[in-house]
Amino acid sequence: MKRELTCIGCPMGCRLTAEFNGTEVTEVTGNGCAVGARYAREELTNPKRMVTALVRVVGMERPLSVKTEAPIEKRLVFDCLAALGAVAVAPPVRIGDVILENVLGTGVNVVATEDIGG
Ligand code: SF4
Repeated sequence: MKRELTCIGCPMGCRLTAEFNGTEVTEVTGNGCAVGARYAREELTNPKRMVTALVRVVGMERPLSVKTEAPIEKRLVFDCLAALGAVAVAPPVRIGDVILENVLGTGVNVVATEDIGG
């Protein structure tokens, strides 16, 4: 079956058409470069997403903004958010500090995206 996607690899936003048999992508057209073909294959067979969230900070009302350092499998996003819901960090925190290491065994760390406290 044909699947239509928009590549998010760059601002060109190429409209991709992928032939997907339910298991694998056999052809991608409309891509301006190799990134688009790779994106279509990954999006249809093993989609990934960046995760952004807020976590509690001990002794402060204001939460801390965090994100994954890289995309994780889309099917793990809810569990990642649940894991972050159980986190409370102690200030001070600096941008880039690892807040949750190797989240869900993905090999991806969750890091602070801002300074807080201290
Ligand atoms: S296929 Fe290449 S040129 Fe087109 S949007 Fe994706 S990254 Fe950009």
